[in-house]
This record gives sequence, structure tokens and C-alpha cells, in this order.
Amino acid sequence: MQFLFSLRSHGVTDKKVLAAMEKVDRGKFVQGLFASRAYEDRPLPIPCGQTISQPSVVGLMTQALEVRPRSKVLEIGTGSGYQAAILSLLARRVYSVERHRELAQSARRVLDDLGMVNVTVMTADGSLGLPDQAPFDRILLTAAPEDPPANLLAQLSPGGIMVLPVGQSDSVQSLIKAQKTADGVTYTELCEVRFVPLVEGLA
Ligand code: SAH
Repeated sequence: MQFLFSLRSHGVTDKKVLAAMEKVDRGKFVQGLFASRAYEDRPLPIPCGQTISQPSVVGLMTQALEVRPRSKVLEIGTGSGYQAAILSLLARRVYSVERHRELAQSARRVLDDLGMVNVTVMTADGSLGLPDQAPFDRILLTAAPEDPPANLLAQLSPGGIMVLPVGQSDSVQSLIKAQKTADGVTYTELCEVRFVPLVEGLA
């Protein structure tokens, strides 16, 4: 996989993250016209007008999330299921929510084929989080809200970490790491990114 060579130069150095990205075949998550480009370090179109993220950005976000073997993780924006597959190898339990039923179903099929039984994919509005399953040790958004959503922070365990792009969808956004401590929430800005917007409601 070509893009594996560019992960390190983009700052992805965590050995467990690199090993997980080596194991997951991105080609399984990109269908049709763009399948032949699955191994390039580029975002690519997927159905429903959405995108599978650029591998180096997936690597940076996963690394920033500091997933532990016992972590219970919520991903908002399943899309192709690629990011969920990587989280599946690093975490105990992954919940991934997607507002497009078609995407949730096809991601479920690919994850089933790969035998990734610790991932639950749900068609739901992720802007509400997943109150029934909360709290989560880690929350990852792969769609950008305009501000960090307070209701999602509330679903984070003490000591938990949330990684998310924040900003307007038509401009450059910031990748933010939010850490919940005893005294409140600390925010670190990691880099500039470009993601599809977090849209409220089911598609
Ligand atoms: N993590 C994905 C990238 C998906 S792009 C991957 O690895 O392929 C972001 C996804 O977020 C899109 O599929 C979009 O439909 C979804 N999304 C946007 N707003 C959402 C919301 N409120 N709830 C759930 N999913 C949402």
C-alpha cells in the first residue's frame, strides 16, 4: 500500500497505529471508479456525496485519540467504514454512527467480511451522540461541526479524549483534541483539515 510510506512523513509514528493501518486493506472500502486509487494518500469520493478520509489524516486522528486496548470508542460518521476498521483493531469496543442508511449498510457488510465483530454500526444522527451507550472513553468525529458540541463532551468519560474537526464546511477547519480532566476540558489544536460538515438529522 503506497500511502504507508507517507504516513511517517506526515507525523504518524505510533507503532500500534501504523501496524493497524498496515493490516486494513483500504481497497475493500472504496468501490467503483476510484477503487484503483485506494492506495494513494488522498481522500476519495464514496456514495451519497461523502468522502473516505485521506489515510495520513486517518493516521493522525487515530494517533491523537490515544486508543487503549480497553477503550470503548464512539465514531461519528461511519462513511465507508475504513476508520472504524482501524479503531476495531485498537479498541475493545467501537460504536460507529452514520446518517446515511446506505453507507451504514455497506460499511457493515465490509466489516462483517473482515470479521470485525467488536464494531456496531448504527444509522443514527451522531450529532446527538449515543446517550444509551455513554459514557465513552474516546469519541472521534469524522464530520465537522461549527463548534465543539457540548452534548458530545458530556458523553465522554472522566479522562476521556475527543478528536474532531471544527469549522465551517466551505473553509479550512482545525483538527482539535479535547481532553476531559477533573477541572474541565482542555483543547489542543493539531493541524488544518478539510472534512464534510456534520449535518443534523437522518439523511
Ligand atoms: N470515517 C469515514 C469518513 C466519512 S466522511 C471513513 O472512514 O470512510 C463523514 C461521514 O459523516 C459521512 O458519511 C456523513 O454522512 C457522516 N455524517 C455527517 N453528519 C452526520 C451525523 N449528524 N450523524 C452521523 N453521520 C454523519
